[in-house]
Amino acid sequence: MASSATLMLHLTGQCNLECRHCYMDGSPRRREQLPFDWIEQALRAAPGLGIGSFFLTGGEPLLYSRFNDIAEVAAEVEGVAKTVCTNATIVRQRDADLLARLGFDVHVSIDGMPEYHDGFRGMDGAFRKSEHGVGLLVDAGVPVTITTTISRENFEQFDAIADWALAAGVKRLLVQPLLDLGRGASIRDQQLSTAQLNILIMQTSDLANASQGRITANIIGGSKRFLLAHPCAAYVCNGGGCHRGVSAEIKKVVVREDGTILPEATNLDHRYAIGNVADGPLGDQIKHYFSDGYAAFDRLCRATYDEFVPDWPDPIVPWDQLLAMRSRTEVSIGPLVDRGCGGKTTAPIWIRTDTHAPAGCGMASQPAA
Ligand code: SF4
Repeated sequence: MASSATLMLHLTGQCNLECRHCYMDGSPRRREQLPFDWIEQALRAAPGLGIGSFFLTGGEPLLYSRFNDIAEVAAEVEGVAKTVCTNATIVRQRDADLLARLGFDVHVSIDGMPEYHDGFRGMDGAFRKSEHGVGLLVDAGVPVTITTTISRENFEQFDAIADWALAAGVKRLLVQPLLDLGRGASIRDQQLSTAQLNILIMQTSDLANASQGRITANIIGGSKRFLLAHPCAAYVCNGGGCHRGVSAEIKKVVVREDGTILPEATNLDHRYAIGNVADGPLGDQIKHYFSDGYAAFDRLCRATYDEFVPDWPDPIVPWDQLLAMRSRTEVSIGPLVDRGCGGKTTAPIWIRTDTHAPAGCGMASQPAA
């Protein structure tokens, strides 16, 4: 079994910031935390479940009461990539040293130059604090990715963000077009136009060349062209025709700060939950889900795909946003449709594809922090 699924742990809902777009409503007032013992067991069981990467996120994961212990446990699990998603405002030297020693990557969210960033993130001085944290991480040898949410408000700041990231010694930029999720719903009128999205795609793809390879950049979201050619990247293939020999799959397991375990998308309606941490070990719940619950999620994915993807007006499809929104409506239960993209049926397998690469702080594809 390929070890390529992702386990995304929203360790806490608490955050020292209160960003305008946060898709999981992180705030200083939140207090939920995942139970340490359950997380430890899930991390250690992960390779046997086909999980090949961990994302420790929040809220702000560094506010989790036993963050260092969780990081140590994660580091003991061999053959799994480990990433922390943080706003980096409270990163200290000892945090940078710990994450360097344990082999973590770190994703840090920066949305613009200081004045804009501080206003968007709800804290005066947030940019400079994050900049300091990024400096500590880079100097300690931690691979840092900057994740940036782009809306109509900061669309013109993309080049400045890229220049700043280059100067900071960052190797990668992940660009998330603003999504209509969580608090982002309150600023949905700031979502990019199709023309702006096309320009952003060009800017992103040009960045590696312009920087002579010193930084790479990717937009988060599903390429419509790819999704049309490979619908199995957007929903769970039925195996009646998958070229990968997959009958059922979960590419990403999301554990919310309240203990709810979800397939694929952080903002999915909890009717489609795999379970809850209170109900037992992760492996048992996954096994149960494939026999009772997965079919409903599969139908949700198909209904969402059919409803939105073929006529989506933009080249990038905000799949997680669409799936989450569709999950809040009733889904008609019809027969499964074989789209005939391949061959054979096998047992369930977990596979992650790059079209669902987890993103950063408060961003939907992925983890918040
Ligand atoms: S987006 Fe990240 S930093 Fe901002 S409130 Fe949400 S969790 Fe905190």
